[in-house]
Amino acid sequence: QNHYDILIIGAGPIGMACAIEAQKANLSYVIIEKGALVNSLFNYPVFMTFFSTSQKLEIGGVPFVTISPKPNRNEAVEYYRRVAEKFNLNIKPFETVKQVIKNADVFEISTSKAEYTANNVVVATGFYDVPLLMNIPGEDLPKVTHYYKDPHLYAFQNVVVVGANNSGVDAALETYRKGANVTLVVRSGDLGPHVKYWVRPDIQNRIKESEITAIFNSELLEIRDGEVDIKTQGGIKTIPNDFVIAMTGYQPDFSMLRKFGIDLPESLCPAYNEETMETNVKGLYLAGVVCGGLDTHKLFIENSRIHAGMIVKNIVSPTYEV
Ligand code: FAD
Repeated sequence: QNHYDILIIGAGPIGMACAIEAQKANLSYVIIEKGALVNSLFNYPVFMTFFSTSQKLEIGGVPFVTISPKPNRNEAVEYYRRVAEKFNLNIKPFETVKQVIKNADVFEISTSKAEYTANNVVVATGFYDVPLLMNIPGEDLPKVTHYYKDPHLYAFQNVVVVGANNSGVDAALETYRKGANVTLVVRSGDLGPHVKYWVRPDIQNRIKESEITAIFNSELLEIRDGEVDIKTQGGIKTIPNDFVIAMTGYQPDFSMLRKFGIDLPESLCPAYNEETMETNVKGLYLAGVVCGGLDTHKLFIENSRIHAGMIVKNIVSPTYEV
């Protein structure tokens, strides 16, 4: 009974979109998800607002109704839960896919809980599970996080935020507004180019007014219990510190992709056919932001939800209308 036409790894928005397309095409499928439904979104900061409008986050043709144009994390989590409910999607949460092996024409999939076989496998595992580490002493201390969640924790504390892209800027502003003493450590000479246009003036003004200290062209060197060392253009600076929020980015789980037999060139951009999303392994597909490799700004929900239709069309027939 554990055989499916398609086994989908990951119940993110794109894994869910693939399941809906499979269901529409009368293909049997299962989604294996290692955490909760839309686990990445569930782990986003609680007050996070999407840069996409709600319409662009829709899947399965289900309207995502919000009063303000850009939804927040809580609205998105609830939307995707309602979509899963509406389509009665076959999802197995809290089960991790460990290995995918192709044996003759059939895939054999081992998870933390069971064994499955499938004619096709879709890897829709995103990029949020592997943070890009700074590889510095003290990074493993409990006061350091790569997953910023709630600003209240940092009230009246000395906080270092590393990185000035969207996540770093949001964390700096939110913790500053809860009374934290924030130092923003930025490797380059400026704020990240993708910072949301409506947030940029806010952070610029907080820096200008010296309400948030930003140190550009700098790097965190070492984290210790009560302080951190920062390499700045003017030499090494040691400042008191209670928490480090390292918003240094994330990357797909490349070792997992390799283990499944997917070709990874030196650029670490996984190899796949851009019309069908099929990898070098016949019947093994990539979907969603995992396809971008290290370039995590290239793909998002809006421009990768179409992968679902492309994959199902390739599985059913070239003339199948999605
Ligand atoms: P994900 O949502 O990451 O889903 C992958 C799923 O696979 C996860 O649930 C994970 O638990 C599961 N998984 C991984 N490995 C395994 C395994 N071995 N076994 C089983 N399950 C596994 N995009 C936008 O379009 N608009 C935005 O405004 C936007 N804002 C963002 C803000 C932040 C802070 C971040 C970090 C990202 C943002 N993105 C945004 C990007 C967005 O997260 C992704 O576009 C979206 O989550 C991608 O969906 P996905 O289904 O490809 O991957």
